[in-house]
Amino acid sequence: MSHDLLPPAVLRLGGRPLPMVGPLRLYACGVTPYAVTHLGHAATFVWVDVLARVARHASMDVVVTRNVTDVDDVLTEAARKVNTPYDEYAAMQQYRFDHDMSALAVRRPDHEPRAHRHIGSVVRLAQALLDAGRAYEVDGTVFFDGSGGFDGSDIAAAHGWERAAALAAIEEFGGDDLPAGQRDPFDLPVWRASGEGDPAWPSPWGAGRPGWHAECTAMVLDTYGSSIDVHAGGRDLAFPHHAYEAAQAEAATGVAPFARSWMHVGTVRVNGEKMAKSTGNLVLVEDLLAQHRAAAVRLLILDRAWADDWDYSPADLAAAEGRLDALYAAAGRRGDDAGEAAIVPALLDDLDVRRALGIAMESGGSAARTAVHVLGLG
Ligand code: ZN
Repeated sequence: MSHDLLPPAVLRLGGRPLPMVGPLRLYACGVTPYAVTHLGHAATFVWVDVLARVARHASMDVVVTRNVTDVDDVLTEAARKVNTPYDEYAAMQQYRFDHDMSALAVRRPDHEPRAHRHIGSVVRLAQALLDAGRAYEVDGTVFFDGSGGFDGSDIAAAHGWERAAALAAIEEFGGDDLPAGQRDPFDLPVWRASGEGDPAWPSPWGAGRPGWHAECTAMVLDTYGSSIDVHAGGRDLAFPHHAYEAAQAEAATGVAPFARSWMHVGTVRVNGEKMAKSTGNLVLVEDLLAQHRAAAVRLLILDRAWADDWDYSPADLAAAEGRLDALYAAAGRRGDDAGEAAIVPALLDDLDVRRALGIAMESGGSAARTAVHVLGLG
């Protein structure tokens, strides 16, 4: 038996090496369970699943957390429309989501925190931010100061966003429903006072509920402590959601960076437009799975760079079916060892699935079987 130790595999993500000493702490911003799962959600969680599979295959310890935002005004509103308590409604939608995810061979996360179980942490977060002079309270709502009163640059500038674009993004994500009392448009609620019919919990500032960004901050801190290795989520969550999540955590803990690396998965569009319930152009996972193999849907999602936005087309899904058959055929051939040895290094290099698939098709045999296995296409 040899005592020579091979150098450990190093993952690159977002173009930079991410050396791991301890476990890879991965947090994926999960769904608000108020609507059925569409291809855009699926793309994010399939990519997160592949990151975890690749890292595990390379002998890293990986801990995956994917939260459930089960306290949210859009959810409350959807439940109200069908006359169902919001928590019961969320549980039903969550069941359908889990069903779609397991059909797509997305492994269950190690931790699945639900926002309503972390209210106490949001209250502690709000108090810590008040104590640090980074938040203020108005009529039961605690606003995080995103204006730059603390270090001169506002939260948008700190994240490389132009002011107008950042304000438009805030507007798009609930900006029309902000409580009164903001001193600056970049100040967003960590905790908000609840009105009639809103979910409400007791707090030092009266009955209220958490702000959306603060829920994720609290769930990350509760699950992992002050920092994580990879924070994943759809690209549209980069601002304001993830920027505030990180800024609040860093302001409360003093530990920076909150996330060593970000994995913002590209947006899936239909005819050039973002999928949205309001435009009625949602491509639902359950509809795709009724007509196609789950592995083909997975391959459609993965056969590209993870950060790229892309357009869904039925023709591309049909092509993915053909490509999957070609991959299986390659796996049945005799292959060469060099091909197999190159698969995992390609995947560790920013999850270069295209390169790995190219090698798998070319080399066949164990290279293709390794690709099928690691990418969860079996
Ligand atoms: Zn989140």
